Amino acid sequence: MQSGDEAADIRVAVDLGPRSYEIRVGSGRPADFGPYVRAALDATWAGQSCRSALVVTDEHLASLGLFEGYREALSAVGIEPSVAVLPPGEATKSLASASRLYDHLVTRKADRHLAVVAVGGGVIGDLAGFVAATYARGVPLVMVPTTLLAQVDSSVGGKVGVNHPGAKNIIGAFHQPSCVWIDTASLRTLPDRELRCGLAEVVKYGVILDGPFFEELECSVNAILAREDRILRKILARSCELKASVVSRDEREETGLRAVLNFGHTIGHAIEAVAGYDGPYQHGEAVAVGMVAEARLAERIGWIGPEVTARIERLLVRLGLPTSAPSLDAARLLEAMGRDKKNRGGRIRFVLPRSIGHVELTDAAGPDQVEAVLMSL
Ligand code: NAD
Repeated sequence: MQSGDEAADIRVAVDLGPRSYEIRVGSGRPADFGPYVRAALDATWAGQSCRSALVVTDEHLASLGLFEGYREALSAVGIEPSVAVLPPGEATKSLASASRLYDHLVTRKADRHLAVVAVGGGVIGDLAGFVAATYARGVPLVMVPTTLLAQVDSSVGGKVGVNHPGAKNIIGAFHQPSCVWIDTASLRTLPDRELRCGLAEVVKYGVILDGPFFEELECSVNAILAREDRILRKILARSCELKASVVSRDEREETGLRAVLNFGHTIGHAIEAVAGYDGPYQHGEAVAVGMVAEARLAERIGWIGPEVTARIERLLVRLGLPTSAPSLDAARLLEAMGRDKKNRGGRIRFVLPRSIGHVELTDAAGPDQVEAVLMSL
């Protein structure tokens, strides 16, 4: 991670051999976006000839005027943008929306000299990224994530895709961007609940990989909730750096190393599945409850003491996240977890903490221990 003075951009290198790229975390300065993208595109053979772009965004961001500056900045460096504005919400992450974008590209006779620029949350990033991965067998992608979750999670790692009506995220690809542009100023309009959901993933990075970072979060709660640019730049950059460190060792989820990112998600996904994807728990909220429950499971198998769980729970509560989900049926949660992709030989595998800053994948928790934790959600 490179940073200069207090107000300077922070640049995070994502090391993926020939697919390496940079994430720039800054505040304001939209005019710098054009030269930044041009330089990133020029660094690759496919990008050098880019003279046009498809900017994909959603109606919320269009109504907030959040993408106009990017469009102008692209024009200023000789990249002629057209814009596709889609409805906001998970339903947009579909093959039908991808098809709409392919129509747009074919109508404009777009070829491989075009870049897709995703300006939005994880829905827009995943969908536009999927179109970039598949149109003309792959065109350059520029990510401009505008939710905290997209900035610290979905825009890092190269997973792109759409939902099938019967299964979330089941149609997809790996397609790394040419660059990622993160502007903390875009978070000023983000609803509080969306901010909190992204913070659940930030806390997760501290627990799984970086104890001092977790401590820094504990000391910075007020500044984070006040959305101070300086602290946001710092925690965004460190989160990206931590996720990138995992992704660069397991780019395509082939060695199992990427599994550490699943802390809180085994129970979190089950909560979402049982409560319903449009139910009372958004993803980040379900993950917050899942992290506390999985820490309790680590206690039951003797890996940590109760003070570690209490610390995680305290930080999540201070950030405004839920840490319990009392009305959910333990048997249904267990059944939902039985479908988890990490499971082997009929046993549920969890990523559990041994301390704050270190987790391991294990099947050491027996069904009784798992059930006991789920009963006390
Ligand atoms: P989202 O994209 O639906 O955005 C949430 C809402 O915030 C939307 O209504 C959007 O219009 C609005 N919004 C976005 N930026 C805003 C801003 N700056 N100001 C005001 N409103 C703004 O949701 P999300 O939480 O960003 O992403 C969720 C998606 O990300 C899911 O589909 C999930 O599967 C995916 N995801 C992907 C990965 C990955 O590795 N690819 C990882 C995690 C999550």
